[in-house]
Amino acid sequence: MIKDFEHFAPATLKEALALLAKYGDDCKVICGGQSLLILMRQGLVSPKYMVDIKGLTELSYIKEGKDGLKIGATTTHRAIEKSPVIKKKYPVLAEMENRLASIQTRNWGTIGGNICHGDPAGDPASVLIALNATLTVAGAKGTRSIPMEKFSLDYFEVDLKDGELLTEIQIPAPPPRTGAAYYKFNVIESDLATTSVAASVTLGSGDGVCQDVRIALGAAAPTAIRAKKAEKVLKGKKITDALLKEAGEVAATEAEPISDIYASEEYRLELVRVLVPRMTKEAMARAKKA
Ligand SMILES: Cc1cc2nc3c(=O)[nH]c(=O)nc-3n(C[C@H](O)[C@H](O)[C@H](O)COP(=O)(O)OP(=O)(O)OC[C@H]3O[C@@H](n4cnc5c(N)ncnc54)[C@H](O)[C@@H]3O)c2cc1C
Repeated sequence: MIKDFEHFAPATLKEALALLAKYGDDCKVICGGQSLLILMRQGLVSPKYMVDIKGLTELSYIKEGKDGLKIGATTTHRAIEKSPVIKKKYPVLAEMENRLASIQTRNWGTIGGNICHGDPAGDPASVLIALNATLTVAGAKGTRSIPMEKFSLDYFEVDLKDGELLTEIQIPAPPPRTGAAYYKFNVIESDLATTSVAASVTLGSGDGVCQDVRIALGAAAPTAIRAKKAEKVLKGKKITDALLKEAGEVAATEAEPISDIYASEEYRLELVRVLVPRMTKEAMARAKKA
C-alpha cells in the first residue's frame, strides 16, 4: 500500500530545484511514475514529499543541431520513437524505443525517469553508452555533466545527489561512416531485456578499417556497461568474422550477469557471445551505407 505523501507540481525547473533543496532526502522526484509507483506500492520507497516534474514542459524537447542531439529529461519514450529527426539521423534510438514496454507505458514514461531508475535491464542506457551520450544534471548550486557510461553506479543506483535533477541528454553528431545497432533478447514481448547489446562503429573512408567502436551491454552486470576490452579487439583493424567472434568471447569476460527467473548466468553470457558479433556486424553494415 502506498503511504501518504505531500505532492508538489512545480511549474518551472527553478521551483522544482528549490523544493528539492528544501525537503532533502525526505523528498523524491516523480515524472511518469511508471517505475517509481511500483516501488512505492511494494513499500520499498516511501517519500514524505513528491516533486512531480511531469509538467515541466521546459524539459520536454528534442533538438537537433550541428553538435548533435539534445533530449530533455521529461521527453516521453513515445516522442523519441516517433521523432522524424531521430528516425532519420539516430535510427537506433527510435528502434530501441519501439521495443521498450507497451505503447501505454511509452506514452507516459520518460527517458529521464528510465535512466534515473538505474535498472541494468533498461533499454536506453546501453544505447546511450554506445552513442557516447552525456547527461546534464542540475542542482541548487548549478549544473554538472556526466558521461552516460559513468552515471549508473550499481543496481538501481545512479550518480544523483540529494537535490539534483537530470535535465538533458546530449548525443554527439555521429562522424561520417558511423552506424549503430541495438538488440534486446527478451522472452515476453514489451518486457525488459534478458540481455541486450548496443554497438556503434565508425569506419575509415575507403579502407573499411574500424576507426572507432563502442559496445555496451545491458542486463549483463549490475549496471549497463561498456565492453572496452571487446572494443580493443576490433579498433584499428579491418573487421572479420573471426575478430567479431573473438570480441564476443572477450565481452563475455567483462560481463557479470546474475541468474534469475528469466535466465541463468551462463545463458546470459552466451547471449553476450552471440549478440556482440551480431550487433557489431549490423552497425558496420549501417556505417558502410552512412
Ligand atoms: C509494464 C512495464 C513494462 C516496462 N518495460 C520496459 C522495457 O521493456 N524497457 C525499459 O527500459 N523499461 C521498461 N519499463 C520501465 C519504464 O518504462 C521506465 O523506467 C520509465 O520510462 C520510467 O520513466 P518515468 O518517467 O515513469 O519515471 P518515474 O517512475 O517517475 O521515476 C523513476 C525514477 O527516476 C527518478 N526520476 C525521474 N525523472 C527524474 C529526473 N529528471 N531527474 C532525477 N530523477 C528522476 C524518480 O525519482 C525515480 O527514482 C517498463 C515499465 C512498465 C510499468
